[in-house]
Amino acid sequence: MEEDKKSASRNTKQKGEILRVIQDAQGPLSVKEIHDISKRSVQNIGIATVYRVINHLLESGLIHEIQLPGESSRFETSHLGHHHHFHCKICDRVFDVGVCPFPLENLPKGFTLDSHEIILYGICSECNQQK
Ligand SMILES: [Zn+2]
Ligand SMILES: [Zn+2]
Repeated sequence: MEEDKKSASRNTKQKGEILRVIQDAQGPLSVKEIHDISKRSVQNIGIATVYRVINHLLESGLIHEIQLPGESSRFETSHLGHHHHFHCKICDRVFDVGVCPFPLENLPKGFTLDSHEIILYGICSECNQQK
């Protein structure tokens, strides 16, 4: 029983840490990135634990999955407002950007727009500074 309690509190701590890592990020994170950052605060955290916690967080609706074309899944918190993603081609990180070119003025006559997806590709500020 004592062992169960210990492992339950460890699970809660891991879940809290991983949620914090995702919330503090500048954009959606891959499982590998979440694992790398979590390792700094949670000793010996394994990739299987990261996957398990991500699944729990998805089920509880706290985070959701971002699928960029040709990329492995990334995860971000669910409470973000409307935003777009900027993919840095050098460091391969994805950043949130708040700018949005919509509404479009010149949609063809008779068309109404419900939603849109935009992915921006380029070089982030950190990578630009290292050039
Ligand atoms: Zn970059
Ligand atoms: Zn937009």
